[in-house]
Amino acid sequence: MITSDYHVHSNFSSDGKVSMEDMINQAIRLGLKTLCFTDHMDFDYPQIGDYSFDLDVKKYYTKLQMMKEKYKSQIELLTGIELGYQPHVIDSMNALVKEYNFDFVINSVHVLDNYDPYYPTYWEGKTEEEGILKCFETIKESCENFTDFNVCGHIDYIVRYAPSTKVKYHEYSYPNYADLIDEILRTLIYNGKGIEVNSSGYKYGLGHPHPKTEILKRYKELGGEIITIGSDAHLPDHIAYNFEAVAELLNNLGYRYYTNFKAGKAIMERLV
Ligand SMILES: [Zn+2]
Ligand SMILES: [Zn+2]
Repeated sequence: MITSDYHVHSNFSSDGKVSMEDMINQAIRLGLKTLCFTDHMDFDYPQIGDYSFDLDVKKYYTKLQMMKEKYKSQIELLTGIELGYQPHVIDSMNALVKEYNFDFVINSVHVLDNYDPYYPTYWEGKTEEEGILKCFETIKESCENFTDFNVCGHIDYIVRYAPSTKVKYHEYSYPNYADLIDEILRTLIYNGKGIEVNSSGYKYGLGHPHPKTEILKRYKELGGEIITIGSDAHLPDHIAYNFEAVAELLNNLGYRYYTNFKAGKAIMERLV
């Protein structure tokens, strides 16, 4: 049974509206043992829409330490962060991770060539395949250049925003990107890093988590063992979203453990 959620946002993230305490209370109601907040920090996020993803890290960190103490008899709260990679901000990313004692760091790619693929402008002038390829290339680069993280976030989340997904889900062809994805997975395994299973894919109606089953299978074949599980919830109702399906999927693929991180150290937990 999965008793921890390792990817959760509060209103410290610019796309989050719910307080930490509301998220914590829901996690307690659900019977989770551990909740790891991973609010967004994207250095130099392009000014496109209403979001900045610029986290007040000091305030966030301090508040979380207070929450940890307040709720310690009910739930274990951990201090994580979801750091957005762009090649030119890598020094800021490294400095931030050095400055704070995060329990857990997710390396995510949200910006490609100064565009967020969430917005249609990213897709203008390129085929869907080119748009998706660019994302995998950037993830590969992030895993090679940035090393101070624990897991690579939502590897194939870009498919959510591919133009055809808006009509009918674009079931992207894994074999078209297999070489690149293998390189990402090999780099992660070689460097002792993991991947996350992000259950928001189910929430978006994709029928699978991020990354999809073929990638989870391949990660295991290549020797990968470190998998954290997160809902990417921005609302209380989405905490631990469809974790039963995630447990079943991982179990069917032969995984027997998932991973929690505390003070950057991996702790293996039994899946069933
Ligand atoms: Zn993300
Ligand atoms: Zn997130």
